[in-house]
Amino acid sequence: KLHNTILELKGNIRVFCRVRPLIPEDSPGADGRVISFPTTTEALGRGIDLAQNGQKYSFTFDKVFMPDASQEDVFVEISQLVQSALDGYKVCIFAYGQTGSGKTYTMMGKPGNPEQKGLIPRSLEQIFQTKQSLQSQGWKYEMQVSMLEIYNETIRDLLSTKDSSRTEYGSNGKQYAIKHDANGNTLVSDLTVVDVCSTREVSFLLDQASHSRSVGKTQMNEQSSRSHFVFTLRISGVNENTEQQVQEKPKLSIEALSSLSDVIFALAKKEDHVPFRHSKLTYLLQPCLGGDSKTLMFANISPDNSSLGESLCSLRFASRVN
Ligand code: ADP
Repeated sequence: KLHNTILELKGNIRVFCRVRPLIPEDSPGADGRVISFPTTTEALGRGIDLAQNGQKYSFTFDKVFMPDASQEDVFVEISQLVQSALDGYKVCIFAYGQTGSGKTYTMMGKPGNPEQKGLIPRSLEQIFQTKQSLQSQGWKYEMQVSMLEIYNETIRDLLSTKDSSRTEYGSNGKQYAIKHDANGNTLVSDLTVVDVCSTREVSFLLDQASHSRSVGKTQMNEQSSRSHFVFTLRISGVNENTEQQVQEKPKLSIEALSSLSDVIFALAKKEDHVPFRHSKLTYLLQPCLGGDSKTLMFANISPDNSSLGESLCSLRFASRVN
């Protein structure tokens, strides 16, 4: 029975693969052609082939984006999912992949370049637009934002002015205990939560968080500068005409994941014991990996030769989740 339950959970996670284009920082002589779409029509758009030492490896996902896919192309494929956050679903989108594979680009985009805006700003625009149009049908929504970073099992509040000061990393005396309530909602005690009414307000907070992250970076050990960014938008709505209620529907977006892989591996391998408690990140995201949440994972891949080993690992891992 437990196996069936976990299999159901596994079915909740959709996996999109995205290969970034070659960039000047890639090693000289890098060749993006080692990664390609399969030629068979049934796998077109869903399959990916990788060639290493004359051997070909093929993988299939819910969707594959090759280097020429624009931010808009990617967003079109997730906009339905974003919409369901307004319909009462917990929606979780996260990116997995080695450093430099395009997680930040996919989630946040390039600052100052509207065409290259990532999924978080695009999702926010859609949510606020829809919120506006649903007003005429009597819907009133309230939105709250929180942003945190997890580094070395320490949570840092990216919207707290205190936390961004140059004290020792995360040491402002707060505990930030993670709790899940009976409704499957996640609460992080002491975390700053800000009411927001417009995309503009959230953009301002994203800038604040980004500044806070860069200040924190100077205190991280360069060798292990793997930090996880978790953005949460909590939506609650009420219809004044029908008294219908839609409550507490958080949407989470994360970039830069590593420890979450343990849990997803366990789900994929159908293990009896899923080690959610294993790390702060997985415990925080537990409700997104089970229950009635809609979860999407991006497997981000670098196309250059020197990343082939890591790319193959990421693809193997991601296809096991799929
Ligand atoms: P990660 O967050 O996984 O460490 P980044 O998102 O920072 O990786 O990407 C590494 C570099 O590649 C950045 O300079 C980024 O702008 C660039 N990049 C990533 N994906 C794309 C893409 N799809 N198109 C253009 N440039 C990209």
